[in-house]
Amino acid sequence: MHIKDIVSKKVSNQFTHPIKVTFGEMTSTESLIIKVVTDAGLIGYGEVCPFEPVTGESIQTEEVALDILTDILIGQDPLCIEQVHHLMDDKIVGHTALKAGIDIAMYDLLGKASDLPIYKLLGGVSNQVRSDVTIAIDTPEKMAQEATDYLAQGFTQLKVKTGIDQATDEAAIRQILDAVGDKATVKIDANQGWTAKQTIRILNEFRNTQLDIVEQPLPYWQHEENQLIRSNITQDLMLDESVHSPSDAYNVISNGEADMVNIKLMKSSGLFGAEGINKVVESAGVPCMIGCMAESRLGICAAAHFAAAHRNVAYCDLDSYLMFKESDWLKGGFTSEGGLLTLSDQPGLGMEVDL
Ligand SMILES: [Mg+2]
Repeated sequence: MHIKDIVSKKVSNQFTHPIKVTFGEMTSTESLIIKVVTDAGLIGYGEVCPFEPVTGESIQTEEVALDILTDILIGQDPLCIEQVHHLMDDKIVGHTALKAGIDIAMYDLLGKASDLPIYKLLGGVSNQVRSDVTIAIDTPEKMAQEATDYLAQGFTQLKVKTGIDQATDEAAIRQILDAVGDKATVKIDANQGWTAKQTIRILNEFRNTQLDIVEQPLPYWQHEENQLIRSNITQDLMLDESVHSPSDAYNVISNGEADMVNIKLMKSSGLFGAEGINKVVESAGVPCMIGCMAESRLGICAAAHFAAAHRNVAYCDLDSYLMFKESDWLKGGFTSEGGLLTLSDQPGLGMEVDL
């Protein structure tokens, strides 16, 4: 099988309401949907959802880089995934979200060619995964109300965005913990917005509560202080923006910086890189989470297949699609209820894409 063409289509995902995180407020996101066309008549689909503050890419830079990668990939066998990554990495450093879109499309093709869903190709544990749901920064009262609403919908894991204002962060955490009682666990994601001292002080205020994980409190380049945090809090420290690749994972694990890492396909150049990160951290006895940027159901479906394939993926933070209005160009892949995602057993991603 050979790649005949790679085409992309820009889609806009409209949030049902504005989302606020430390990077700013967002009302919509854009993705590039990648279509890898083969001479065998099979088509693979992937999604590129760049987020400039984390990977340095935008839709505009991806469109330029895609032309360059398309030139070198036409004629290649899309089922030789390692070779395709080698060619892409040799040609352009970075552009991990773009490479993720191409990677997802290749795994979709691999599944379609072998008549297997991706999660079985990658290992295969279960066709179901449980995701948390994220509460964005707002007033503490509104955030606590949102937590209560999610419990009523059946969610048992909440993730809370913090990191803009310390007093508001603490008030929000307290009100959310009061609202959920023992009905849900709570992760806090400061998105690089705290110092080590703040992190230690805040986490110690919430010892012995349902708050069990703090994610990326420090800027991604600050490494030594992660060890200080770990030795001074009882909760687990998860690193996100500090870990993009298997070598990043190796470095933070060997430095004793993390109890957990958050893998995102847009950081890891897709499923191939995610496999590498998971194996590195698993070999050190460290579990991982699979998270997302702001992908549509397509990118989320690929990440859910990865989670469903591996026992070491202890948590899923695959909820961006819940915040978007329905897309009429995308069907299938998985169903969800209260954070429980059930994957289709159709080949590849198991999705119908009409673009
Ligand atoms: Mg994060």
